[in-house]
Amino acid sequence: MRVLWARDDLTWRLQFLLDPEDSDTGTCADGQRIELRTNSCGVRLAESIPDPHNDLLAVAAWTIVAPWTKSRVTFDRPISARLAEALCSGWGVDAGPVSGDARTGSRLAVSYSSGADSVAVAAMFPEAPLAHLQRVSHRRVPNRWTHYRSDVLAGLAGLAAKTGREVSVVQSDLEFVLSFPRPGYPEHQAVAVGALLQADALDLGGIAFGYELGSRWLGGGRYLLRYTPENPMWAQDGAWGRLFAAAGTPIVLPVGGVSEATTMRLSLESELRDQVRWCLRGTTTPCGTCGKCLYKELIQAAVERRPMRTSVTAAAPVAKKWQEPPPYGGQEMIEYGCARVPGIEETPFARAAEFLQATVASTAWLDRCYPPAIDEIPEPWRDQVRAYMVDSIGLMTPDEARQVETWGADR
Ligand SMILES: [Zn+2]
Repeated sequence: MRVLWARDDLTWRLQFLLDPEDSDTGTCADGQRIELRTNSCGVRLAESIPDPHNDLLAVAAWTIVAPWTKSRVTFDRPISARLAEALCSGWGVDAGPVSGDARTGSRLAVSYSSGADSVAVAAMFPEAPLAHLQRVSHRRVPNRWTHYRSDVLAGLAGLAAKTGREVSVVQSDLEFVLSFPRPGYPEHQAVAVGALLQADALDLGGIAFGYELGSRWLGGGRYLLRYTPENPMWAQDGAWGRLFAAAGTPIVLPVGGVSEATTMRLSLESELRDQVRWCLRGTTTPCGTCGKCLYKELIQAAVERRPMRTSVTAAAPVAKKWQEPPPYGGQEMIEYGCARVPGIEETPFARAAEFLQATVASTAWLDRCYPPAIDEIPEPWRDQVRAYMVDSIGLMTPDEARQVETWGADR
């Protein structure tokens, strides 16, 4: 793979050229097969800043080209030996040319989507700048996903500035470089390209993501559904963790030890609560009818100990999967909701509740923090996260931690 960056004032344009051994069908770190649609994209910064360190440009490019790279990657400007080593040990690729020193920085930024998880992270770090990445259309790829209102989410992110937060909204069409299964990040870490390109200007020494207990330790919603300490996307000693650390921007998962119920509670209690939005379709309000709205309403109703407020019925297509037996994506939160929502038998989750037979006691672990998630927070921020978790949430007992570590063992 050959990688070329060109700058035109606020916009960085990435072009990448496959080597003969590369293929336009690739696999990203979570195992999803993805197909390449086009070999260029752009990242438009909100303001003019000096060029970032070459390692930052290289990592930003790698979040986009990694799935299609077989055995070598050639950057158009030299990278540090430390970064080349992380690419070699993580992916088995020869990376170069190599020259110059690695970088360091000191501040933490939050990769900020406007969703509950990243709002919870922002609430934990009131001084941290927020970096939002807004999807925009690609000039060579028709946008068949206009229902995805990235403009609305970017507007909500921008409104966080009203609370005094430092916010940057960076625009990119990078999600359109892949055609299958749909536009999206080639690797999950591509959401951080804006933060990476601004990392020197903001003096960043770490990037915090809103990945919570389910995504970090329970196999996420889609793929593994089992205890995953070795999670290749997010483990501190995994390939991506080592790569980001080599660029002087280690991955920080402040809510990696708590469930979506806890991040939702924290987000709705925060000063950013009026800007929280998990629905990708709504405009002035969430749509109330998509699968995400239905899933999050179950969790919110559970957190608030009230009946669900939804017009979605069990017969609706978005509720179909809840009529079938488990396993479900995000199953721990379905158990949590079914155990707590009054009148669950009147909702689209009635069948799931029957299958799962979860109780408040069997899901109590989801109200506490999993201690190993704190241990893997990089040192500059570990004590702050630990203090927050101990004071505001509480740590899991050894028995509760075992619920995490045996998750999915019976499947
Ligand atoms: Zn919705």
